[in-house]
Amino acid sequence: MRKPFVAGNWKMNTDGHGAVKLAEEVVAGCGETAGHKVDVAVCPPFVYLQQVGKALHSSHIALGAQDVYFEQKGAFTGEISAAMLKDTGCTYVICGHSERRHVIGETDELINKKVKAALAGGLLPILCVGELLEQRKANKTTDVVTRQMKEGLAGFSAEKVEAVTIAYEPVWAIGTGLTATPEQAQEVHALIRGLLTEMYGKKLSNEIRIQYGGSVKPDNAGELMGQEDIDGLLVGGASLKADDFAAIVKAAV
Ligand code: PEP
Repeated sequence: MRKPFVAGNWKMNTDGHGAVKLAEEVVAGCGETAGHKVDVAVCPPFVYLQQVGKALHSSHIALGAQDVYFEQKGAFTGEISAAMLKDTGCTYVICGHSERRHVIGETDELINKKVKAALAGGLLPILCVGELLEQRKANKTTDVVTRQMKEGLAGFSAEKVEAVTIAYEPVWAIGTGLTATPEQAQEVHALIRGLLTEMYGKKLSNEIRIQYGGSVKPDNAGELMGQEDIDGLLVGGASLKADDFAAIVKAAV
């Protein structure tokens, strides 16, 4: 059985004080549910990782980063390596979030290098895939998600892929209040599971967790999690409210 996995992506929000307060409230709100019945992570901005890590210290909530650079060290001004993230206490790292793909302009090739670097550095990557609204309307969802999966995971052995979580995040549902229906989400999750079977075999594809992300709220989390191939949730806006995030974590069990 795949253990549910809920992660909060705080994006470019909070300040130092607010980040610590939010982390403490998330710890209190999730209680014993986190770690035992569901894996939980929060991904604050880079500059607050250490402070948030301290606030999570005695909990079962893991620390994650929102991005990583693929080089190990050197003249890459402004970038952060996997080793640095590991050093600050990170377990997870989000790779290829749609805002990085579509606002910053990251390509599948770059994202592949980031996933590779994350794994080499001992981090657990969350690889995000998902189509734009115009791509869905043009019936291109399967093509887009297939390309992002194949290029994002290009060159990985089954052994490596085991450590990766996939997050299906339809771009039209991110931060818009529009959620994919559970059926729409399940359809793409089943496609992703099928691709994983094709690429790595049935045993492995049954083990890899696939999160859904896109305007997840306490009132839709349970229904989404009820779908066969939805194993967790990647939560943006609602992860900034401890009560909502804790309710989502509890709904994921
Ligand atoms: C996200 O940032 O990954 C996300 C899904 O955002 P939201 O929950 O706000 O749609």
